[in-house]
Amino acid sequence: MRCPFCGNIDTQVKDSRPAEDHVAIRRRRFCPACGGRFTTYERVQLRDLVVIKSNGRREDFDRDKLERSIRISMQKRPVEPERIDQMISGIVRRLESMGETDIPSKTIGEIVMEALARIDTVAYVRFASVYKNFQAADDFDKFVSELRPDTGPDEA
Ligand SMILES: [Zn+2]
Repeated sequence: MRCPFCGNIDTQVKDSRPAEDHVAIRRRRFCPACGGRFTTYERVQLRDLVVIKSNGRREDFDRDKLERSIRISMQKRPVEPERIDQMISGIVRRLESMGETDIPSKTIGEIVMEALARIDTVAYVRFASVYKNFQAADDFDKFVSELRPDTGPDEA
């Protein structure tokens, strides 16, 4: 890392520690040429995440695309936009923290469904029905019934 004060390339790391709840690594750096001290942050770079599609094709991870599909599922649902933003950030963080740059699209779909299931059942069903591409209505009914494990016999 080049020293921002004198341009020397050979700077030293004096201290590394997690920052922002382990989303970043904060490094204290020292330049032996001029004695300057500065701090750098290391973060996962989203552009480096690659989605492996079910047909084996690779595609750069696109947060906007993920966000669009989630917002479509959430349309007209009584959920605060802020809550949706938080959920999307949470999903992205989970993907970032998996330690792999190559992530199967199936894994992303499962993480999204898990997050949606906690927030809004209708949005979950919408997303899952598209994601899993249900062909048979039977499968879909079974799937929906599995969504509601708390439903007692009274409601049957
Ligand atoms: Zn320097």
